[in-house]
Amino acid sequence: MKNKQQNILIIGAGLCGSLLALRLGQRGYNVTVFEMRPDLRKTDISAGRSINLAFSDRGNKAMKLVGIEDKVKALCIPMNGRMLHDKEGNTFLSNYSGREHEYINSISRGELNGLLLTEAEKHDNVTIHFNKKCKSVDFEKTTALFQDYNTKKEFVEDADAIFATDGAGSAMRKSYYLGKKFLFSFSQDYLTHGYKELSILPTKTGDYKTYKNALHIWPRGAFMLIALPNLDGSFTVTLFLGYDEGEYNFNNLTTPEIVTEFFQKEFPDALELMPNLVEDFFDNPTAPLGTVKCSPWHYKGNTLLMGDSAHAIVPFYGQGMNASFEDVVEFDAVLDKHEGNWETVFTEYEKNRKKDTDAIADLAIDNFHEMKDHVGQAIFQEKRKIEMALEKEFPKDYSSKYSLVTFNEHIGYREAMLKGRAQDKAILNMLSDGVISPTGNMKDILNKVKQETEAILEDD
Ligand code: FAD
Repeated sequence: MKNKQQNILIIGAGLCGSLLALRLGQRGYNVTVFEMRPDLRKTDISAGRSINLAFSDRGNKAMKLVGIEDKVKALCIPMNGRMLHDKEGNTFLSNYSGREHEYINSISRGELNGLLLTEAEKHDNVTIHFNKKCKSVDFEKTTALFQDYNTKKEFVEDADAIFATDGAGSAMRKSYYLGKKFLFSFSQDYLTHGYKELSILPTKTGDYKTYKNALHIWPRGAFMLIALPNLDGSFTVTLFLGYDEGEYNFNNLTTPEIVTEFFQKEFPDALELMPNLVEDFFDNPTAPLGTVKCSPWHYKGNTLLMGDSAHAIVPFYGQGMNASFEDVVEFDAVLDKHEGNWETVFTEYEKNRKKDTDAIADLAIDNFHEMKDHVGQAIFQEKRKIEMALEKEFPKDYSSKYSLVTFNEHIGYREAMLKGRAQDKAILNMLSDGVISPTGNMKDILNKVKQETEAILEDD
């Protein structure tokens, strides 16, 4: 029990930090959390970044671990597939899986974060302080410097171990970098695209204006629009667009006329549902999209980066939050083995986990190109048809890359990436060589895909 008397400090009460506080609280640690923003359950602030998110099996594994799966389910709207919209307004639903029980969910960031905070606070040994911003971390002394938002007073907190779950701009990661006391490698790559959130409001009677149970995509090659449903009948719409490339970009969409012209030309069916477009467009910020990779995540047994602070990724696989939740599950498993020795726990956790978070970072970039461009191409649609049929007819024998990443929480992202990429290559090669077709015999196709995938994996 000695270790359970330890004081744990968590910086950031976002999705990962509040889940980690809940889990460590359940394990009996004295947990203190400092969050720079006000309590989102009491203040009318956006929870930061996207309003809703795609929540799937890896995230749900964490909810099962902390025993709140049912409460989270009540916040979820199932999305069975991608609803693709072409320029003429035709739609095509492409399911995420051939297995009926496999789908992703739309969930409100604020509601989910609020639930995790409430569940964490049910434990007497967990305390959460709001409006306290971490300015830096002394990772040798295991102390953190904070500033109170209201009084502006600074204070130092001491702990046995400090966890930074303060997101992509992590203050602790900056302290690692600036401290120059150990070899710390860091990369941050921005896309030339940014994003802006818009909305499709409910009808006057509170209904959804378009099909509820799908993730809507308007793929246009160099840019795209997506929409995810909310429980109140609205959709949160996100425009992903270049900052300064192409005929229309964030830098030249500067007047209501040009914005309307752009939507009229590219997304006419969406525009019909968005009389509030111009207002949203000029009220809401445009934000960048980047990937952060760094190592090591820990300093001795004193401090550890988790969630986006260790591995921020672009949102195109819908996995950033799910990966951050899975971090907590993986960490908990290592804690089962080595509890009592933070340095061993941190070292082993990073050794197990980093290969997988590097993989999902790369997969997320791949999916950016897939969503904005490939999904609209005929060969890609034929590939998806074959994969759906294989998953339906041989549910135990075949899983597409998307299914391996999203629905198979029993394998790591890296394994899913290697197998999934090899399968993609195999199917696309055989389709373009005319070796297989969506109307062929599925058992025969399954065997060919398996053989070709094995050969590609061996060559790599
Ligand atoms: P965050 O959620 O960023 O939380 C960090 C917390 O720390 C915040 O509460 C912040 O206020 C606080 N904080 C920051 N700095 C300090 C400081 N110095 N002191 C104290 N507190 C601090 N993921 C998915 O799985 N599915 C999706 O569909 C999806 N869609 C996305 C769409 C967009 C547009 C974006 C940008 C991201 C999306 N993500 C998605 C990724 C997801 O948002 C992140 O991976 C997730 O929020 C990471 O959680 P976190 O707790 O590590 O970081």
